[in-house]
Amino acid sequence: MSQKTTQAEEKYSSYELEVLAVVNALKKFRTYLLGNPFKIITDCSAFQKTMDKKDLVTRIARWALLLEEYDYDIVHSSSQRMQHVDALSRYPVTIITSDTLTARLQRAQQEDENIQNLKSLIGTNNATDFFTKNEILYKYVDGRELIAAPKDMQTELIKLAHEKGHFSSAKTEEIVKREFFIPNLSKQVQNVIINCVPCILANKKCGKKEGFLNPIPKEDVPLSTYVHFIGPSPSTNKRYQHILTIIDAFTKFTWLYPVKSTTLEDALDKLKLQQKTFGNPKRMITDKGSPFNSKGFDDYCTEENIQNLRITTGVP
Ligand SMILES: [Zn+2]
Repeated sequence: MSQKTTQAEEKYSSYELEVLAVVNALKKFRTYLLGNPFKIITDCSAFQKTMDKKDLVTRIARWALLLEEYDYDIVHSSSQRMQHVDALSRYPVTIITSDTLTARLQRAQQEDENIQNLKSLIGTNNATDFFTKNEILYKYVDGRELIAAPKDMQTELIKLAHEKGHFSSAKTEEIVKREFFIPNLSKQVQNVIINCVPCILANKKCGKKEGFLNPIPKEDVPLSTYVHFIGPSPSTNKRYQHILTIIDAFTKFTWLYPVKSTTLEDALDKLKLQQKTFGNPKRMITDKGSPFNSKGFDDYCTEENIQNLRITTGVP
């Protein structure tokens, strides 16, 4: 069980925070602890001292009240003997885990011209933020000592950070920035992430999402729904190159009209011809190809009181 301090809690003194940890743990494991005598082992020697302030600080008074419910003994243990616990409260995601990586960094830095230049400038005004430690070049950034990542290893380091959990670009950047100085970091992080195969396979969608399947309800009378399409075919002698196809959705009766072009005029001509014999359908289903995907066609449908449904292009 662990958690971050809230903004308000950040202002507590370190003694209070240690007590807060105990209090939160007791709350969390209340069902197991209530009615059982147990030990609280802590490296906080000031536990009792803090609790003695309960008459002065309301917060501590509340904690004291809460603690009264339990039957516990406080056992003090030195921090040296609590390292196994400390390990859990350190931030778990770090990049440098092995001596080999450090050794490789050192070597790569030596082969990096830019870094060698900076090293030679240490002590002058041109490299005030830089210093070396164990022959490795560091940069001070916001009070932190960051390793200047050599060009050859930048991508690798970003990958290492990203692959700790396939984090977002912001989080990956944050992890890298805890230990390394890499110029142009955002851009490089984004580059790594868009090329990360597990991330691509996990299909993290960005941009437009797919919609739901939306079947068009079947009609039970003829001539109420038409389906249209126009296909390019080899030209005839009279230069008819396309066929405007109209299908009645109910009977599957099909009309084929040769047209010379796929303009709106040609399509409307044939539709009006159709209208003279059969009247208007209730609705037309068209794909998004011209001429049906035009304002002129929309206007025609509105005028004639026909519902116009558009489906995905290319699947008539
Ligand atoms: Zn990834």
